Amino acid sequence: MSIILKNISKRFGTYAALHDVSLEARDGEFLALLGPSGSGKTTLLRIIAGLEFPDEGRVFFGDEDVTDLKAAARRVGFVFQQYALFKHMTVAENVAFGLNVRKRRDRPPTAEIKRRVEELLDLVQLGGRGDRYPAQLSGGQRQRIALARALAVEPRLLLLDEPFGALDAKVRKELRRWLRTLHDSMGVTSVFVTHDQDEALELADRVVVMDYGRIEQVARPRTIYDRPENAFVYDFVGDSNRLPVEVVAERGSFAGRPLAVVLDGASDGPANLWFRPHEVRLTENPDGALEGRVTLILPRAGTLRVEAEVDGIDRPVELDLPLDAPVKIGDVIRFVPTEPRMFPKAD
Ligand code: ADP
Ligand code: MG
Repeated sequence: MSIILKNISKRFGTYAALHDVSLEARDGEFLALLGPSGSGKTTLLRIIAGLEFPDEGRVFFGDEDVTDLKAAARRVGFVFQQYALFKHMTVAENVAFGLNVRKRRDRPPTAEIKRRVEELLDLVQLGGRGDRYPAQLSGGQRQRIALARALAVEPRLLLLDEPFGALDAKVRKELRRWLRTLHDSMGVTSVFVTHDQDEALELADRVVVMDYGRIEQVARPRTIYDRPENAFVYDFVGDSNRLPVEVVAERGSFAGRPLAVVLDGASDGPANLWFRPHEVRLTENPDGALEGRVTLILPRAGTLRVEAEVDGIDRPVELDLPLDAPVKIGDVIRFVPTEPRMFPKAD
């Protein structure tokens, strides 16, 4: 079942939480909404779920216009970090909840519900735990139960809002892989909200990067990282350095000195040059190089993360150098960005 959002806008009072958002999740796709806190991810997800209604725009599930349908009529499963399990119910009762609250004529027979709950508990690898109470489970197990509860109603769509947000990094990583496998085996369409770029890049078929209620880019994870369309995406996804430059004849100059970087197609004027920490080359030659004083060295897996203060930039430049790079704190190093990107200076 595909999800199509057409020109969705949503205001809370005078505050515009979503501006003219159009988006499609293809049938069977796993889409991640990624953006900083307050960018409108939850609002968009709630609009898809039918828990919130847009001021303008339409929501389609496949060919069906569901804009005016309430949540219960949309057959979506959702898992929200804050929608905890019901504490006074057993695990099995929690999972069966969505079926038990149905009107009698839509409700499966008790034996059928029991069978389905057991099947779901097996699916989330918690078979045999049906009689326990949520408090007797770990955080990761509780989120798997929340997922089983969402799946019990055989949703056409699975909507997840930072479902692993409260868990520690290792458990998150495990659940992430497991969720992706589950999504694939169920053949549902999923929309997953996160502010964690690793989570989005690892899980999703396509990532929707949002900021201030707008979509900044929709693309495959690799494309988001390798070919960001604007400075926001470049900066938000992956580590980055920003250098204010003046462009003259497709050459950038910094602090009045031309740099050894060619900016094909760049028009003259002020611009921001961006580069990743690992996309630099150390050099002895001061011509065309940036110069910085090393203020911090952090050995990491496989590289040295070095911070250097460069006159004229307020935040230190971050560089990833080989572990055996001959640098120490206080050294003056010279370097040239090897894959600089330029975006208009609109930020
Ligand atoms: P995100 O999930 O990306 O953190 P949200 O969709 O929760 O962002 O919120 C987007 C903006 O809308 C925020 O500024 C938030 O304060 C505001 N907002 C969300 N829900 C409401 C509401 N019910 N009433 C008023 N403002 C809201
Ligand atoms: Mg949110």
